Amino acid sequence: MSKIEDFLTTAQEQDIIKAIEVAENNTSGEIRVHIENKTDLPPKERALEVFHLLEMEKTELRNGVLFYVAVESKKFAILGDEGIHAKVTENFWDAEKELMLSYFKKEEFALGLVLAITEVGNKLKEFFPYHSNDSDELSNEISKG
Ligand code: CA
Ligand code: CA
Repeated sequence: MSKIEDFLTTAQEQDIIKAIEVAENNTSGEIRVHIENKTDLPPKERALEVFHLLEMEKTELRNGVLFYVAVESKKFAILGDEGIHAKVTENFWDAEKELMLSYFKKEEFALGLVLAITEVGNKLKEFFPYHSNDSDELSNEISKG
């Protein structure tokens, strides 16, 4: 098995997908998780590439948020599109990164992701409340590559 497959159990993946679903029930914002093995780039740079590969800029309100993890490289980043980026401060992203890091250090990867996804969802809700005609613009499935 590859390192990506070892990173999360199937049950943990389901927990993460569930956290995304719960978050998106309260906001029009869209959250995605992408997991890959390695990157030579700084994680934020690679996250931006992945953001475009997954066409995450195609949300109506530009409010997609990507959680990017490179397992073997031990790097991760959280990247919000310009809609959400215009609303929150850099401190917010730093706090979420710190939260994830504190769990990642204990190898509690799933829990770190679930908690950060939940907090980002709550923040998205403040600025981008859910509307009854909301659609699931970006898949909630974990993207792997
Ligand atoms: Ca949506
Ligand atoms: Ca979604």
